[in-house]
Amino acid sequence: MTMDATAMSKIDLPALIDAVADTISEHADELTALDQAIGDGDHGLNMKRGFEAVRAESAALAGQPLPEVLRAIGTKLVMTVGGASGPLFGTLFMSIGKELPTEPSRADLAAALAKAISAVAARGKSQAGQKTMLDVLYPVQAAVAAGKSPGDVADVADGAAEATKPLKAIRGRASFLGDRSIGHVDPGARSSALIVRAVAKVMEHSA
Ligand code: ADP
Ligand code: MG
Repeated sequence: MTMDATAMSKIDLPALIDAVADTISEHADELTALDQAIGDGDHGLNMKRGFEAVRAESAALAGQPLPEVLRAIGTKLVMTVGGASGPLFGTLFMSIGKELPTEPSRADLAAALAKAISAVAARGKSQAGQKTMLDVLYPVQAAVAAGKSPGDVADVADGAAEATKPLKAIRGRASFLGDRSIGHVDPGARSSALIVRAVAKVMEHSA
């Protein structure tokens, strides 16, 4: 099954929000443990607070066009997640919402993701290979652009998160550890992969 315009425009937004909030909350302890290893241990709680705040708005967002919902999610994340990742995930969702037409094709999605990921990189003054969420987001964009199915895109995301393990952190709090950041999965890369998996599952069910 592929991801096409129909899959995107038929997507059940409250289900999407629930799926992402569920997986983040279920994995909050794991994200916290990852951040305890190479950061300050707040990533699980930061993300859980943010996506539960988004969930609380879900009913109000239902019925609004996809781009507006994504922008609202981004704004909420900026206000509630905190840390370095809040503005970055917020930028990601806000930018996708800004770029996406109401009934996007796969090409529209790939283009919107590319622009949004560039916006995250600009905001974080970061690039691929620095052991951050970008190391998942770039391969995910490439997989979407290449026409992979949602499940395959999610597998790419998981593999990319795992592949941050041998990297040395160059950006964010983990960079303070230098070589000691090597050998741990980046928390923001892991949370990005969780979000991608949840979105992919909902897209598969709405197609
Ligand atoms: P903080 O580092 O302020 O405690 P979090 O723990 O919530 O914030 O988030 C840490 C995650 O944010 C990292 O694992 C990394 O993926 C991401 N991150 C941090 N700084 C940057 C940056 N400059 N560019 C891209 N991603 C970053
Ligand atoms: Mg942290």
